[in-house]
Amino acid sequence: MKTAQHVYDVVFSGFGASSCILINELHKKNELRNKRILIIEPSEKKTNDKTFCFWAKPSDDIIEDYKEIITHSWSKVMINQKKKREINPLKYHHISCEGLYNKTRKILKQYDVTMSREKVAQIEEKNLVLITTSKTTYEAHMVFDSRPPKIKMPLSEKQNIWQSFTGYKVKLKDAVLDENTCTLMDFNVNQDGGTQFVYILPYSNSEALFELTRFGKEKINTEAAQRDLKNYIHRNYGSFNIAEVERGVIPMFMDMPKCQQSKRIIPIGTRAHMVKPSTGYAFKNMYKHAQTLSAQVGQSILKQKSSSRFKFYDRLLIYILAVWPQMGKPIFNRLFSSQSLSYILRFLDENSSLKDDMGMFSKLQIGTFLKAVLYLFIEKSKPQLILFAPLMLYGLLHFILPEYAELSIYALIAIGLFLVGIPHGAMDHKTGLFSDNKKINLSFIFKYLSVMSMAYLVWLISPTVALVTFIIYSAWHFGETDIQEWKINSRFVGFLWGLLMFSALFFSHVSELNVILKTLNVQALPSELPWLGLFIWSLIVSFILARLHRSLPWVLLTCFLALSYWMPLVMSFAIYFVFHHSWSGWKHLRTSFKESNWSLFKTALPFNLGAFVLFVVLFLNSGMGWDYNIAQIFIFISCISLPHILSMSYFYKKLKTKRV
Ligand SMILES: Cc1cc2nc3c(=O)[nH]c(=O)nc-3n(C[C@H](O)[C@H](O)[C@H](O)COP(=O)(O)OP(=O)(O)OC[C@H]3O[C@@H](n4cnc5c(N)ncnc54)[C@H](O)[C@@H]3O)c2cc1C
Repeated sequence: MKTAQHVYDVVFSGFGASSCILINELHKKNELRNKRILIIEPSEKKTNDKTFCFWAKPSDDIIEDYKEIITHSWSKVMINQKKKREINPLKYHHISCEGLYNKTRKILKQYDVTMSREKVAQIEEKNLVLITTSKTTYEAHMVFDSRPPKIKMPLSEKQNIWQSFTGYKVKLKDAVLDENTCTLMDFNVNQDGGTQFVYILPYSNSEALFELTRFGKEKINTEAAQRDLKNYIHRNYGSFNIAEVERGVIPMFMDMPKCQQSKRIIPIGTRAHMVKPSTGYAFKNMYKHAQTLSAQVGQSILKQKSSSRFKFYDRLLIYILAVWPQMGKPIFNRLFSSQSLSYILRFLDENSSLKDDMGMFSKLQIGTFLKAVLYLFIEKSKPQLILFAPLMLYGLLHFILPEYAELSIYALIAIGLFLVGIPHGAMDHKTGLFSDNKKINLSFIFKYLSVMSMAYLVWLISPTVALVTFIIYSAWHFGETDIQEWKINSRFVGFLWGLLMFSALFFSHVSELNVILKTLNVQALPSELPWLGLFIWSLIVSFILARLHRSLPWVLLTCFLALSYWMPLVMSFAIYFVFHHSWSGWKHLRTSFKESNWSLFKTALPFNLGAFVLFVVLFLNSGMGWDYNIAQIFIFISCISLPHILSMSYFYKKLKTKRV
């Protein structure tokens, strides 16, 4: 049962590296004084199963803060058993996790701390933060959450690999080690279809930790690794006895999920993406994060900075290691032979300049990196690139077969309309808004038709109001579908994008728009306004928003809008509608209903036929004139869109709370 006794000022969910580092930092800043602290950790944290290594200068704060638990420091580094290289003024330092936990436990003795051996099941924010475990619910003003993030499977195999290792702490028969030199990477081992190297930390001239490490899609094969490691040690250092065996796995993931974060619930450690994907190092990142957090305690914004440049470099390397694993060894070899260690360590600390980085890339296997850039671009923007295909075809036909250009593109659009355009709108019963049992029944048809009738009534009363309303709810819907696709968590931003999309399309085709307005009995737009300028401004704002949200697909869609200037209005919109919007909506429905394309298409078949019949009837019945028929089709589309948009909005809302 919940009692007042369970209200804490600060709760640490997990007592691992990140919590310990943060506790040390908060203690240093005197932020734990007079606080009721709760630490919830399921394990005893007695085993010494991790070592944390990092490089730093003697004058760095991190050295001052952790000097009493730094057990070893190396001033020289070796790569591939070659020349020993001084890393002056830096040193490579070693801390054991046991040392870190004990230092932190000592600090905690000074405060009002409750330790609870439990697993946190859920953390949610109400007036206070509620932390639910299997035994109880605690309340807190603030929670630092270091539970491992829940990874949504399956992950892209091209952007998420593992760093896995098997290590031996050994005592050599002969004192052949240089205890001032550690080996960061020695690639003179079997690569086993990945990128493998040996990492050596000598603790004395005859004792060391040897780790066979693998970067790859598959984790290291322990049996093969132990055999290879034994051979390696024997070959290079002679006979030995194994004192301890170490194994570990670190995700080198670009697709780490964004975990819940607010003013009161703050992810830390791996959960806050503190493990650098391309290296697996995290200690210094967690230290810097702890410094930032402790400096912001009590303030409303707890921001984390991340550099998109270095994230992009990480992305490239992970892609190469995943897709062309045989390139790992030559790339690292060339990196270490062409660059100074001080630069490489600065680069890994994300403190190097763009100019220096370009100099470095030019000396590496530049073709492989450029290929990775191109492949990544294509993979990330595949759905948007499809949009450019009809556009390019239109441009091409315009030059070689101008009389067939429009006809061909409209034929393509018609095919797309019957494959996904209409079918994506025929799943509304499955979202559950108008049908409790997600089936098409009388009640569903009645509700659907009622909403359509309301929209039609507005057309009868005022075509202008009906049209403006139609544009507004369509902007909402297109934006909502796109932000789902682009993983942007703001419906308002989606709506803004929808409005910008319509503005750009309309302002660049005012005369064509006015023809449509005339058929709908709506007043035409005045020709004297600076429409071209407004079109350009729509594009600029769209680019700015896309940049702010770091969304490449959004940038590409804005480029599509810019190019649509040279295409007819209806064609541009239809290409967007069929090849982007409908396809995105279709994918969202298919994934969440866990159905195949074919089974969804079969469900939609009667609607396709219905639409076909409707179009034929309207076109055969040309008594009222083509303009009248086109206006009727437009009004019908606007009416049928309203219940569809409401259904999809309901679907996306449920998708967010995973209730579909
Ligand atoms: C073997 C190994 C060696 C590494 N070496 C280095 C290195 O040399 N240098 C470096 O910079 N980085 C290194 N790293 C990477 C990084 O420093 C570590 O992964 C670091 O431990 C991450 O800190 P964390 O707090 O996020 O996770 P952890 O230290 O794993 O702490 C998370 C804690 O949360 C607890 N927990 C889990 N589930 C729950 C739950 N439901 N409720 C409550 N508590 C829960 C866990 O028991 C654990 O104690 C290494 C990692 C490994 C695995």
